[in-house]
Amino acid sequence: MNQNIETKIKQTLSKIKLNKKNKILVALSGGKDSSVVAYVLKKLGYTIEGFHIDLKMGGYSEKCLNAVKKLCEELDIKLHVYDIRKEMGNSMCNIRLSVQSQSKNKIKNCAICGVIKKWILNKEARKLKADYIATGHHLDDETQTFLLNILKGSPELNANTGVITKNVKDKMFIPRIKPLFFILEKDIKEYSLKHKLPVVYEKCPCAIDSYRIQIREFMGSLSDKQKENLMKNELKVLDRIKKEHKKIRYCEICGEPARGKVCRMCALMRK
Ligand code: AMP
Ligand code: ZN
Repeated sequence: MNQNIETKIKQTLSKIKLNKKNKILVALSGGKDSSVVAYVLKKLGYTIEGFHIDLKMGGYSEKCLNAVKKLCEELDIKLHVYDIRKEMGNSMCNIRLSVQSQSKNKIKNCAICGVIKKWILNKEARKLKADYIATGHHLDDETQTFLLNILKGSPELNANTGVITKNVKDKMFIPRIKPLFFILEKDIKEYSLKHKLPVVYEKCPCAIDSYRIQIREFMGSLSDKQKENLMKNELKVLDRIKKEHKKIRYCEICGEPARGKVCRMCALMRK
């Protein structure tokens, strides 16, 4: 099974023709998924550096930061730490609460955190002249997101699903890759335990998005094969749809890439 993960990652990466000299910034949360990404990419000879956003959420964040530091030491890779309190003036919990208190509809914790993390990652990866950002998203994450988008009535959001972000070519935008796209969460956990990676196995204390939890429970009733088929067939359908290279716009407020006049981060902040 473990050998299998490495082979699957190799096959996944061969689809996007990565160059071993390209600089890949691995977004490290301190959890098992992104740690396995760093471990395997390093083992396969890619040029990687780690990037961790210290969310300053008390003891949980401290444990994550320590795990990430240890991992990067063990792998002998450079680690960049972004201190959210220093850079943005507050902890993730307070930023999130302030956004929620100002918005009419309650936006879910993970949705806010996700938008902010993506915004930081792109901006900082660009500063660090990275060619790619790699995240730890895996097959279970991706099938959940896929179903969530459909159930929420936004199937078009699935158009960007894939091992690499599609439809965006722009000097301001750093492409994101997901080396674990075809790998099941349970296999990642097994691999991480077997290699004794320094990892925080607890879930984030703020991850209480009930909708995602409901979908996760439903996904639990599917077999591994059914999950794999769901994603493979989704990709086949997407490949047939004529892809448009949408022109990227820049946010009127912060200048980062955006779909509309204002990016999702600034839209959140101004609610
Ligand atoms: P999540 O949205 O927490 O499931 O995380 C998805 C992916 O985003 C992880 O696999 C990491 O690659 C990245 N990520 C999450 N949290 C952080 C963080 N604090 N710092 C850097 N990258 C992160
Ligand atoms: Zn913006």
